[in-house]
Amino acid sequence: MIKAYAAQSPTSPLSPFEIERRKPGPEDVGIEILYCGVCHSDLHTARNEWQNTIYPSVPGHEIVGRVVSVGEKVKNFRPGDLAGVGCMVDSCGHCHPCSEGEEQYCENGFTGTYNGPLFGGENTYGGYSQSIVVKEQFVLRIGHEEKDLAAVAPLLCAGITTYSPLRHWKAGPGKKVGIVGLGGLGHMGVKIAHAMGAHVTLFTTSPSKIEDGKRLGADEVCVSTDAGQMAERANRLDFILNTVAAPHDLDAYLQLLKHDGTMTLVGAPAEPHPSPGVFNLILKRRQIAGSLIGGIRETQEMLDFCAKHGITSDIELIPASYINEAYERMLKSDVKYRFVIDMATLK
Ligand code: NAP
Ligand code: ZN
Repeated sequence: MIKAYAAQSPTSPLSPFEIERRKPGPEDVGIEILYCGVCHSDLHTARNEWQNTIYPSVPGHEIVGRVVSVGEKVKNFRPGDLAGVGCMVDSCGHCHPCSEGEEQYCENGFTGTYNGPLFGGENTYGGYSQSIVVKEQFVLRIGHEEKDLAAVAPLLCAGITTYSPLRHWKAGPGKKVGIVGLGGLGHMGVKIAHAMGAHVTLFTTSPSKIEDGKRLGADEVCVSTDAGQMAERANRLDFILNTVAAPHDLDAYLQLLKHDGTMTLVGAPAEPHPSPGVFNLILKRRQIAGSLIGGIRETQEMLDFCAKHGITSDIELIPASYINEAYERMLKSDVKYRFVIDMATLK
């Protein structure tokens, strides 16, 4: 048995809990978890906001740690190596998206690192725990220095969830990109879009985050509650990445897109957004899209990109026992910009 933190019901706070991990098989990597980031999806899940939570729920899908054991068929990891695990631990491996390396869109349903078997099977337990056993194919290599490890953890979800759509919609030199919301995802979006060479405008509801937005790499910061600042930017952007975790008026942002521009939603609020006005789409052939994390190959590409560009997350390191307070602060947008649990505090 190993130590973990779990929610037992939608309304119970997370508390210490013991879980069992499977014995590593020939293709498995056993990992001692050193740090785990705290994603807003963890909160949505612990509280059953998406109405699909299996209890007990051990969240956490921004996992970094050290390899402690490898099965006989494992090729790329040895005990002592640093390793990462993101949002998925398995997928069918043979459908079209899987064969394209986009396991997150697996037609048979990928297995989530926690709350995994949405389509049947046993529950999976995530990274708020001391160790995990994962198929080699779903384990990531860490190229950053070990001293940065805690700040690398959030790349495993916040990093890839922003990197993947920024790549897909070709953020880069000559492109004007908007990032909406400066939370865990948003601050990675700002850093990554800036490193890709795009002109970045951050949209925030928090005037207190203006200076941080610029420090993180935004060329411009717009306070989205200020109608004047929004109007100045009408028809200017090629692409908007919207990371907001709550329902809000999408029209306010659609108006900022140039003709043929796209706004991609990655925020996954519990309640739907009000439906956008069709004329904001029709009159300029604008598009609204969505995007889900990223495949394993692309997650490795993102980690290597971030290591090369010296990108990590801005974090607040917390003990496991602080998790319920961390959730409350996350709901108030009071986090700069990702909580990361120091798993040594579970011992
Ligand atoms: P987070 O750290 O809580 O950040 C969300 C940010 O949204 C806040 O910091 C705030 O930024 C802004 N915001 C919050 N409430 C708002 C409101 N009512 N109106 C306008 N802006 C508001 O959350 P996160 O971890 O980045 O996750 C964001 C969302 O993405 C969550 O719903 C999460 O479940 C989802 N997610 C999706 C994927 C995917 O694959 N698609 C992956 C991971 C997470 P400002 O203070 O700057 O306004
Ligand atoms: Zn996440």
